[in-house]
Amino acid sequence: MNYPNTYLIDHPLIQHKLSLMREKETSSASFRHLLREISLLMGYEITRDLILEMQTIETPLETMETPLLSGKKLCLISILRAGNGLLDGLLDLVPSARVGYVGLYRDAQTLEAVEYYKKLPNHIHNRPAIVVDPMLATGHSAIAALDIIKSSGANRIKFLCLLASPEGIRNFNEAHPDVPIFTAAIDRELNDHGYILPGLGDAGDRLFGTR
Ligand code: URA
Repeated sequence: MNYPNTYLIDHPLIQHKLSLMREKETSSASFRHLLREISLLMGYEITRDLILEMQTIETPLETMETPLLSGKKLCLISILRAGNGLLDGLLDLVPSARVGYVGLYRDAQTLEAVEYYKKLPNHIHNRPAIVVDPMLATGHSAIAALDIIKSSGANRIKFLCLLASPEGIRNFNEAHPDVPIFTAAIDRELNDHGYILPGLGDAGDRLFGTR
């Protein structure tokens, strides 16, 4: 099925590693390692349109004009805490990126996402931003995070996740039609507790060995 503004990154290495992550016996250490590897592969794809400018450098033999990244540094924003699992690999790829964090919890009464932490880089309105969270389930926390990030001035934003549900994509597209979603898989559905099926369980718990 096609979803507007949604890109499936279906490289065989990503698909293989994702299948290993889904297995319930996969240890936290392997899960973390696989997510880091996947974030490198997805990062390669999602940064494809970064802007280059020709600059003059000296090789040991002569002067040459060569392409280098131009403009303000890329901004990576992790939605705490599972977003950090994708962040690490992306930072390996773009070590000069600026990093921001948004922390949200779900209010038990209202079920609304409530902000408990925000730290974003300066000049965010001039930077391309990639917001990362491995699981786009209901979409509520991603939507709330994007509301916060946009109200800080960011205007060139992509959203990177590992797994998405059809419901999450629909909700996200409705709230933020200008933000493209990049995902490695779109699973079947959500269960009554907001977990993605077949999914991989709780990404934060599996990454950090908590329950
Ligand atoms: N968050 C997770 O970690 N897993 C899900 O399946 C849904 C939300």
